[in-house]
Amino acid sequence: MFVSSGSELIDICSKESIPIWEYSIRKEMEKSELSREDILVRMKKNLNTMLNSSSYAQDKEVKSVSGLIGGDACMLRKYADRGNTLTGDFMVKAMARAMSSSEVNAAMGKIVACPTAGSCGILPAVIISAAEKLNKTEEDMVNCLFTASGVGIIIAKHATMAGAEGGCQAECGSAAAMGSAAVVEMMGGTPEQALDAAAIVIKNILGLVCDPVAGLVEVPCAKRNIAGTVSALTTADVVMAGVKSKIPFDEVIWAMNKVGKQMAPELRETAQGGIAITPTAKKLKKEIFDKKTSL
Ligand code: SF4
Repeated sequence: MFVSSGSELIDICSKESIPIWEYSIRKEMEKSELSREDILVRMKKNLNTMLNSSSYAQDKEVKSVSGLIGGDACMLRKYADRGNTLTGDFMVKAMARAMSSSEVNAAMGKIVACPTAGSCGILPAVIISAAEKLNKTEEDMVNCLFTASGVGIIIAKHATMAGAEGGCQAECGSAAAMGSAAVVEMMGGTPEQALDAAAIVIKNILGLVCDPVAGLVEVPCAKRNIAGTVSALTTADVVMAGVKSKIPFDEVIWAMNKVGKQMAPELRETAQGGIAITPTAKKLKKEIFDKKTSL
């Protein structure tokens, strides 16, 4: 069985002198009864899908089925290429990657729902961008996905990853936490530092509601993938600088779960609260459904 808490994970990894990704691979081997090689091949397939989804909409304008979103990944990529950005080439390219996967998802393209389709842009953008910057290999990126999986398993054990249950903090928050922890290990950080990064990311997104316009996973979802990506990457640097989370990862997850339960149903993917009930959102919803019924 996979450990049930972050503190246990840190203990085991430190006793065995292994990173989280190694622990996750070993547990997956035990559970699936597959060889290490087979497990790595399967994860490589996920990575390939992520590489495609995070680049596709940067080169080719992709519109969502509803028409609500599309073309922003291309725009971000062109902006990065012009080379005159505020946050730098690295960050704007990461944002373009996050937007690309979100646009591919909204256009019914193939993505890895990691941990959910709504938050599918974050992990690819974070891992691929960090690997590119740090000259890491495909193997390093695959390992990152196992770190992310390990962190995700613990979040899922104690809270939820569904916006319908716990708000967007549970979807985009979990994805960003998983990504940040993975990048910390990629940078040579310890399991403890990885979980500190996950904790800090979730603390910074705690309470974020799930309020998709017209009930579609497009607005504000796609841009929340950008925000989650930036948070994951910047937090990795915060932690690698030596900053720790005052509140341990396990307690942060406990708080996230509690906050999710305290959220009104209107703020949990029902499209009856938050951004989804602004006048513009209502107008957009009407336009989408009028267009559908006239087809
Ligand atoms: S707003 Fe809701 S549907 Fe959209 S990404 Fe966040 S949790 Fe998912």
